[in-house]
Amino acid sequence: MTLHLDPRAPWVVSTHDLGRRPGSMREMHLTLPAPADVGVDMIGIPKDADVKLDLRLEAVMEGVLVTGTARSPLRGECARCLEPVTSETEVSFQELFFYSAEDAAEDDSLLDGELLDLEPTFRDAVVLTLPLSPLCSEDCTGLCSQCGVRLADAEPDHGHEVIDARWAKLQGLVPEHNNDQES
Ligand SMILES: [Zn+2]
Ligand SMILES: [Zn+2]
Repeated sequence: MTLHLDPRAPWVVSTHDLGRRPGSMREMHLTLPAPADVGVDMIGIPKDADVKLDLRLEAVMEGVLVTGTARSPLRGECARCLEPVTSETEVSFQELFFYSAEDAAEDDSLLDGELLDLEPTFRDAVVLTLPLSPLCSEDCTGLCSQCGVRLADAEPDHGHEVIDARWAKLQGLVPEHNNDQES
C-alpha cells in the first residue's frame, strides 16, 4: 500500500507548514479545478469548475486529520422532464491521513511524505450527497406520456382525445385508401 503522489497535481496538498507535532493546526482556503467524472448518472460537477475549499489540517499522533467543506456548481438534467438543471452543492468531509501504512487499515488514506491527496475524499463526499433524481423544480410535472411535450411549457389543459379503438382502425386505413387512388 505505497503511493507516489505528484506534487503538481491540483488536489495534492502539502502539509509542510503543519509539521508533525500533535496539536498543530493550519487552515487553508483553496480554489481547485473539479476533477473529471465527479457525479452520478443524472448530475455532477462539470470538469474544471471552481471548487472552493475551506480546510483545517490538524496533526495528530497517527497522521493528519483534514476537516473541510467544499462548494461547487452542479450540472445535470431533470429526471422528469430532461431540462438542464444547474445548482450548487456544499459538502463536508473529514479524513485521517496516516503517516504509516502500519497504523492504517486497507481502506485508509495515507500521506506520501508531506503530501496528501484530497481528490478521493472529495469525490466520495460529493457522490454521497447527489440526488439520484434531480429535478428542475420540486413540482416539475414532467413530460406528457402521450406526446412527450414538457408539461410545464404546454397549455394548462394539455391532453389528448382518447380515440375509440374502432375509429383508430379506420384511421389506419385512410392512407392506404389514398395510395390506391394515386396509383
Ligand atoms: Zn423538470
Ligand atoms: Zn401530449
